[in-house]
Amino acid sequence: MTPRFVRLPLAALAAAALLAAPARLAAQAGLDTVTIRTIKITDGLYMLVGSGGNLGVSVGEDGTVLVDDQFAPLTPKILAAIKAITPNPVKFLMNTHWHGDHTGGNENLGKAGVVIVAQDNVRERMSKETFVARLNRTQPASPKAALPVVTFPETMTLHLNGEDITAMHLAHAHTDGDVLIKFARANVIHGGDVFMRIGFPFIDVSSGGSLLGSIAGIERILAASDANTRFIPGHGELATRADVEAHLKLLKDVRDRTQAAIRKKQALDAFLAGKPLADYEAKFGANGFVKADDILKLAFAELGGGK
Ligand SMILES: [Zn+2]
Repeated sequence: MTPRFVRLPLAALAAAALLAAPARLAAQAGLDTVTIRTIKITDGLYMLVGSGGNLGVSVGEDGTVLVDDQFAPLTPKILAAIKAITPNPVKFLMNTHWHGDHTGGNENLGKAGVVIVAQDNVRERMSKETFVARLNRTQPASPKAALPVVTFPETMTLHLNGEDITAMHLAHAHTDGDVLIKFARANVIHGGDVFMRIGFPFIDVSSGGSLLGSIAGIERILAASDANTRFIPGHGELATRADVEAHLKLLKDVRDRTQAAIRKKQALDAFLAGKPLADYEAKFGANGFVKADDILKLAFAELGGGK
C-alpha cells in the first residue's frame, strides 16, 4: 500500500458513505472501478480488500460467514469474489461497528436473507439519525433490512465449518459498538477499526469512542492472540502481532505525552505548538485522514486538559 492510495480515498469515501445515496455514491466515489482483491490467509479464511473496511470471509461446508460489507454498490462484486472461493452462500454477516464503510452492504444482504449479527449499540445507532462530528455529517436512520437482527452486549460465538468465530465487545474504543472477531482455528483476528493501519487512528468520539477505550481495546485484541496470530485491520494490509503492538505504542505515546503536558498545566495551543507527535508525523506523512493535532486535541479533552 502507498500512503496516498490508502489515505485520500479513505477520507473521501468515509465522508461520501455517510452522506450519499448508494447510486450517487458509486459515481461520486468511483466505486464502479473498484476491484475486490482476495487474500487467502489460511484454509477456509480469507481477507477481501476493495474500498472501505477490510472484509473477513470464513468458508466451509456449513455456509459462509462474512465480516463487514463495505459500500452498497460493491455488494455484487463482493458476492462474486466470495463465489470464486466457495459455492456456499453467505449465511451470516457480522458487523465490526456501525460506520457506513463497514455496513453499507447490509441492506442488500439483509434483503437476500443473510442473518446480520452485531453488538447492541450497532443496531441502536443504525436505527436512528446519527451525527458524526469528525466528518460534520448526519447519517439518516438505516432501513429495516440493513439492521442487525441478532445483537449481543458483550460476546457471542458462531460455530460453523469446524471453526469457532467469537465476537467480543471493545467498549468505547473507535465507537461504542466495536468488536474484535476471533477465528479460533484459523488463528486470525479481525480488529475492525479499533486496529487500523492508516497512520493516526480515527476515534469517533460522537459515536462513543475514546482514546483510553482504544488502548484497552488493543490490549484486549493482543490478549486474545498469540505470537502466530494474523490480524485483519479495519483498513490497511494484513498484519502481525508486532504491527498491533506498534499501534498500541502509538496510542500510549499519545496518552502519555498528553498527560505530561496536562500535569505541567500547559494550554492546548502551547501543547500543539510543541509538536509532541513529530516523530510519528515524520513516519506517517502529512496527508493522513487524521492529523497529529486531531488526535492530540481529542486526547487533551478526554484527559481533562485546560482545566
Ligand atoms: Zn469506522
